[in-house]
Amino acid sequence: MERDDEEGPEGLVCEKCGRLCEPAELDTCTVCRKRFCLYCVYRAGSRTYCSRSCGDAFFFGDEDDVEGEG
Ligand SMILES: [Zn+2]
Ligand SMILES: [Zn+2]
Repeated sequence: MERDDEEGPEGLVCEKCGRLCEPAELDTCTVCRKRFCLYCVYRAGSRTYCSRSCGDAFFFGDEDDVEGEG
């Protein structure tokens, strides 16, 4: 029986682009709790988010009329 010996480190993958990253390259979105890498980062003010929709959602407060398209 062959054993699957290749176990990738979990929790080190960008949930946006699927890229394997170093811990220092990853951040967690404060809005949706996704992990994102420095290539997927969206900056709004002094904060960082996984995407523009998250940054805007946080920035504009609780407008629950926002629908993501696409
Ligand atoms: Zn990424
Ligand atoms: Zn997010």
